[in-house]
Amino acid sequence: MIPVTTLKDRKVALFGLGGSGFATARALISGGADVTAWDDNPDSVAKAAAEGIRTEDLHNIDWSQQTLFVLSPGVPLTHPKPHWTVDLARAAGVDIVGDVELFVRERRAHAPDCPFIAITGTNGKSTTTALVAHILKSSGYDTQLGGNIGTAVLTLDPPRAERFYVVECSSYQIDLAPTLDPSAGILLNLTPDHLDRHGTMQHYADIKERLVAGSDVAIVGVDDSHSALIADRVQRAGVKVVRISRRNVVADGIYAEGTKLIQAAGGAMLPFADLDGIQTLRGSHNAQNAAAAVAACLAVGVSADDIRAGLASFPGLKHRMQPVGQRGRVVFINDSKATNADAAAPALSSYDRIYWIAGGLPKAGGITTLAPYFPRIAKAYLIGEAAAEFAATLGEAVPYEISGTLERAVAHAAADADRDESSASAVMLSPACASFDQYKNFEVRGDAFVGHVAALDGIAMLIGGPATGEK
Ligand code: ADP
Repeated sequence: MIPVTTLKDRKVALFGLGGSGFATARALISGGADVTAWDDNPDSVAKAAAEGIRTEDLHNIDWSQQTLFVLSPGVPLTHPKPHWTVDLARAAGVDIVGDVELFVRERRAHAPDCPFIAITGTNGKSTTTALVAHILKSSGYDTQLGGNIGTAVLTLDPPRAERFYVVECSSYQIDLAPTLDPSAGILLNLTPDHLDRHGTMQHYADIKERLVAGSDVAIVGVDDSHSALIADRVQRAGVKVVRISRRNVVADGIYAEGTKLIQAAGGAMLPFADLDGIQTLRGSHNAQNAAAAVAACLAVGVSADDIRAGLASFPGLKHRMQPVGQRGRVVFINDSKATNADAAAPALSSYDRIYWIAGGLPKAGGITTLAPYFPRIAKAYLIGEAAAEFAATLGEAVPYEISGTLERAVAHAAADADRDESSASAVMLSPACASFDQYKNFEVRGDAFVGHVAALDGIAMLIGGPATGEK
């Protein structure tokens, strides 16, 4: 845990006692702050009280006495409208921050030079965060991985020189971290997302820009127009900018040409690494993630050889295009996280011949937008409530069967892929659906897939078991 020492003996109000809020309250108390915490959920309040955290309805406290108000990132700061606690804090002139802000203050107070890589973007955050952490760890550095990826940042080990932090930041966390100042900041890409919580695309982009604007080195994916403008603006403000592209040559930065990553600096273009054959980094979206991870690792002083070795040994994230098993020329891919058609597209575009397991609880629009990938699908195995609807969409274009269950789908797809004469094929769960008709969540669905794959005759598993992976 990172005790929050910068608020010792100060009164701090805190709202939101879920996972990260609870951890934040404990970190504040352990650093000596005088915390009053609350949540709209009585169960969370009771649990906190049982752990010795002082709880009180924040309507009833003296706001003029509070040094700071700490808000959980899940609670609306601005859109669709500020939470009632935000109104109370603002009326009293109390600053509002989140756990990432408390972390950066601790880092500045105790180890301002320890390397800190912060990562944001609309897509690819977790992959890039896990990849950077993996490269650092496998290069022998003391590495702390947390933030939006699932481990609350204040539960990590305390800052000290030579300790590396890799922190995934959602836009909500950036919004609550006014002095965010990473050594290297990555902004991967910006596309409309979560606008319900941010109002407009411009507001969403402005928040994301703050992460790179405060960085010593700003690493920006410039393939979308919002991010490209941000790179220019941050550079004009005097920040060192490294540009990333998966589409075009950049003058100073790292770009992808197919699977090759090219490093461009001072007019020279030098091959840096080739992702060909790295199963966990297939697809041009992963070339963007890998190029950004490389730039960040270079910025904090990792050697090129260590970075190349780390890329090659990246185990991938669970449930995201994760290679889990191999039998002969057939690889088995768990992409259970793809809970809608957009999320399934990168996986379908990354393999040429696919035995595709899809279905579950369908989302509006179904799989109609995936038609461009249909020529890659050798056969589809449809499960869950979506089966009939997906069958109608596939029609004459793709052979399919209604398998019903995941177990049957895996057995049939594996048998069909076995008979396939082509040089390589993939049996892939990329369901384009929510899981709730048959499973508790996408993780349980992915683990079930892995279990069925592991039960196949002659399978060589590429992972240790359903519980492995970095997330
Ligand atoms: P996030 O943490 O931002 O949600 P993840 O790394 O968990 O992103 O990836 C989630 C999904 O987003 C992946 O399964 C893939 O379909 C897609 N994706 C990953 N990286 C990118 C990228 N750079 N650009 C576009 N889509 C991506």
